[in-house]
Amino acid sequence: MIEKRMDELISIIDKANKDYYTYDNPSITDQEYDRYMEELIRLEEKHPDLKRDDSPTSRVGGQIIDSFKKVVHEKPMLSLGDIFNEDEVVSFDERIKKTIKNPKYVAELKIDGLSVSLLYNEGKLVRAATRGDGTVGEDITHNARTIKDIPLTINKKIDIEVRGEIYMSKSSFNKLNEGGAGFANPRNAAAGSVRQLDSSIAAKRNLSCFIYHLPNPEDYGIYTHEDALRFMKELGFVINPNNKKINDIGELMEYIDYWTVHRPELAYEIDGIVIKVNDLSDQDRLGFTARSPKWAIAYKFPPEEVLTKVVKIVFTVGRTGQVTPSADLEPVRVMGSLISRATLHNEDYVLDKDIREGDTVSIKKAGDVIPEIVKVIIERRDGTQKPFSMIRECPMCGFSLSKKEGESAYYCHNDECPSRLQERLVHFTSRNAMNITGFGDAIIEDFYNRGYLKSVLDFYHLDKYKEELMELEGFGSKSINKLLEEIENSKNNSLERLLFGLSIRHVGSKTADILGANFKNIDNIINASFEDLAEIRDIGPTIAKSVNDYFSIEENLKLIQGLKNEGVNMVYLKEVNTNETIFTGKTFVLTGSLERFTRNEARERIEALGGNVSSSVSKKTSVVIAGSEAGSKLTKAQNLEIEIWSEEEFINNLSNY
Ligand code: NAD
Repeated sequence: MIEKRMDELISIIDKANKDYYTYDNPSITDQEYDRYMEELIRLEEKHPDLKRDDSPTSRVGGQIIDSFKKVVHEKPMLSLGDIFNEDEVVSFDERIKKTIKNPKYVAELKIDGLSVSLLYNEGKLVRAATRGDGTVGEDITHNARTIKDIPLTINKKIDIEVRGEIYMSKSSFNKLNEGGAGFANPRNAAAGSVRQLDSSIAAKRNLSCFIYHLPNPEDYGIYTHEDALRFMKELGFVINPNNKKINDIGELMEYIDYWTVHRPELAYEIDGIVIKVNDLSDQDRLGFTARSPKWAIAYKFPPEEVLTKVVKIVFTVGRTGQVTPSADLEPVRVMGSLISRATLHNEDYVLDKDIREGDTVSIKKAGDVIPEIVKVIIERRDGTQKPFSMIRECPMCGFSLSKKEGESAYYCHNDECPSRLQERLVHFTSRNAMNITGFGDAIIEDFYNRGYLKSVLDFYHLDKYKEELMELEGFGSKSINKLLEEIENSKNNSLERLLFGLSIRHVGSKTADILGANFKNIDNIINASFEDLAEIRDIGPTIAKSVNDYFSIEENLKLIQGLKNEGVNMVYLKEVNTNETIFTGKTFVLTGSLERFTRNEARERIEALGGNVSSSVSKKTSVVIAGSEAGSKLTKAQNLEIEIWSEEEFINNLSNY
């Protein structure tokens, strides 16, 4: 099974390499390619015995075209290892520090072109070659001579090899494609222009070249990469002006952040940042793998949009009965997280975008978290994709679905629909609702099927089944007692938790809090008129109607009475502290996982003491509260010298009020 997948990946990558390197005409996107490569690397690391000798993970580039003269590189021209997020940058630095004390780096823009080796004899250009397969490249001297950035004669009469990147600027690329050339990107346009036998084509295409590597620095008495760049500049080569000496990881993060934002302002495409150890003797100590140096790495910018495949369209029934289509996707990494599902919202959305099972789609993360399908890649259809049609019956109970006037969502109105009931039970226990820990989806489904839990009131009758529960597999008296204790404790929750837990349509945790703060107890809410509710700031007519409707249903009033009889608190207990506190007017960012609070609980506590909570770290942040496994936000806060509190310090500061 694993071996088969590895073989499959190798044939996909081999074909992609051929299309990309040999024909300069990629058949898949770079992100897809990187994903297949990453999967193969992961499998090979896990199963080294299955690694094939001819694996593309230990090879560079592609095959070369026979019509070119072949050039054997004196030293191999390698690729670079890839990393994709800030945590991996930190790991790279840590890895280097295992061998090198206090390493210094040079950070460079990763120019999206093709690498070239230039050989000079007594100061005259005698040969230019592509990387090819790393050992043997193609002779492209005739084309290199047409590139104005490549000097035909340098400022010293010496023998020297230098390496760099031939690229096409964005403006030349646009001009070329306006003329109908049809290249996928400037990198392929540059490669396609250089790898021509007729040099008049390259001459017309306005190519450029940056030099960034000196393979034999010791021949010229050079001991750092920084000096090598300076030396090559003196010789007359074009060196990228944005290269920067980096003293520590903080400066590195700043460089990456800066170019992530300012990248569109450049006249040429870059696809990442290259980080190189500066000291050449340190580079020697670190050495190479078969494919790349260990002293350098390429940080690739996160693609905003990534391609993947819709495996299946599935339907879920929410606690309000809304039936939502979602796309099960082939797992793919977007902006650092692995995505395997995207919401499709409703029928209109799917039909509008014409999303079908089996489609290749481009997805992006909307607002930071929820993945969204941007568009379908129609050209990738093979005729097997059938148009979407919305289901008309509830996938759980078979009840006919219906739409409300003016809305696009379908609802299952069967109050007894098992899916709705179970969703509501799960929601009731959730951390921002009654916060009863110990109940997962599976336990609730099991208790539901056994008849112990049919409505939220049944949580408070569960002790009747204590004997039976203790007999169940996976439960002992300890865990049952713990569950019952959690349920008992939940009776003391403040009113807004109960309100949120009841699954009243349109009442999220914030709205529940507003209702609680304004009406103080549940009877006031039950007795409130539509007008009483609607006039409250942030409530409005839709929520007011929904709350009114909910409490006009006999069954719901019975439920409230039942909960009251069980001793569940029906009073709003929170108070907002209006005195000056250490939190007043400050902006907090929460990162990592907190043990004692959910994010929402921590936010509530901060807000109650006059602070604000924001999701991203910037100069305006006052304090970052870092739980365990805090990642890039913590690093950024350290770089910006923002005050950092541990969870312990946060708790101490809270306890003062
Ligand atoms: P790479 O592009 O990930 O990195 C290595 C290359 O970066 C070097 O060889 C050099 O040419 C270049 N580079 C640019 N600026 C540099 C600098 N300042 N210092 C050093 N090097 C610099 O590796 P690769 O082996 O050339 O190509 C692999 C990448 O190419 C993949 O990650 C993928 O993005 C793309 N690719 C895509 C397909 C496809 O089908 N779409 C197929 C093959 C490769």
